[in-house]
Amino acid sequence: MTASGNPQGTAADGRFARRATRQIHVGKVAVGGGAPITVQSMTTTKTADVQGTLEQIYALAAAGCDIVRCTCNEPEAAEGLAHIVPRSPIPVIADIHHQYKMALAALDAGVHGLRLNPGNIRRPEHIKAVAQECKDRNVPIRIGVNGGSLDPALYEKYGGIRPEAMVESALQEIAYFDEVGFDLVKISVKASSVPLMVEAYRQLSEVTPYPLHLGVTEAGPPPAGLVKATAGIATLLMEGIGDTIRYSLTADPVEEARAGRQLLEALGLRERKNVDLIACPSCGRAEVDVIDVANRAMAAFADRQLPLQIAVMGCVVNGPGEAREADLGIAAGNKRGHLFVKGINVAVVPESEMVEALVEWAEFINEHGTEAAIARADVAKAEREARLDRGTLLEAQGDDANRSNEKIVEIRKRMNP
Ligand code: SF4
Repeated sequence: MTASGNPQGTAADGRFARRATRQIHVGKVAVGGGAPITVQSMTTTKTADVQGTLEQIYALAAAGCDIVRCTCNEPEAAEGLAHIVPRSPIPVIADIHHQYKMALAALDAGVHGLRLNPGNIRRPEHIKAVAQECKDRNVPIRIGVNGGSLDPALYEKYGGIRPEAMVESALQEIAYFDEVGFDLVKISVKASSVPLMVEAYRQLSEVTPYPLHLGVTEAGPPPAGLVKATAGIATLLMEGIGDTIRYSLTADPVEEARAGRQLLEALGLRERKNVDLIACPSCGRAEVDVIDVANRAMAAFADRQLPLQIAVMGCVVNGPGEAREADLGIAAGNKRGHLFVKGINVAVVPESEMVEALVEWAEFINEHGTEAAIARADVAKAEREARLDRGTLLEAQGDDANRSNEKIVEIRKRMNP
């Protein structure tokens, strides 16, 4: 059941009703309790390399990352964090694997949060010492259960990596925290298997009020890794489960941040910050290499923060109609690109200038709005040219550009000789 009492998790306005969770703060960023869902990623540099790590953190923040995690695996890493935390544009979480003393050192460095793996730090007195220190400093902890490093006792009890075992691991850790009165907690129960992690999060969300951090661990390189992570994370978000997310990709972490941000924007869970590029899949009618134009447009918009929907369509016969809802679009005509704003033809440009024209109009729309863009155009001239191109192309290609009808005649001949 979700926060609104809607078991499907979909509110009437098409947004997903979210499960009510407690709110914690990682630095200045709120997590849970109705706060916007946040995107996390992890640096791949040595944390002792202060400059390299900060450069990566800045790149991650620019790509849409809200909270960053750095490994704190050795004393030099903790010392690096002491320099990194005050200069980071986003809150920094220290990832602790085996040594509880590294957790205490990271707290000394001033980190905004810790991630502990209950499968690795198992001695109750160590867990409680870290929780007590976090309580005193008002620093939250993520209990990061990982299917691959599950406590062996739980593995044995449940006969393998089962969702129930992962949930119990998290609850055991919370019980230790309760003993010292610490409750600034978020939880993850990640696994590399999508069905396993989905079921573990579902079960966990039924038994705990803490915010949940979603992820498919070790998802691998894109595109398969992107598919796996999206399958798991999106399934849960659509059920109203999840307060913060991370894509674990074998790739530049900037790709993780972009993917996380794009998923939230696609689901309408975060305000659009970047271009939503839609493009037709291309077909026999296409007058340009749609894949190439779409990729070049994607690259041109990658670092421009323009919250617009932009369409790249392969032909002027169907393109403008199919993308009429887009703020801005371009459809390929007779060696020319037809620009349209909200479905209205506003200009015709040479094919070689299609991407540059898109960028120029997108920046204008971002600053002045679509109405001003239409007002500055010679719409009558653009529509005249577009009509002409459409007519020429229809004449050249006919209504059946993919020769489907011809093929059907052939098939029928074969079947009924
Ligand atoms: S008909 Fe035109 S817009 Fe549609 S897929 Fe083919 S080329 Fe693209």
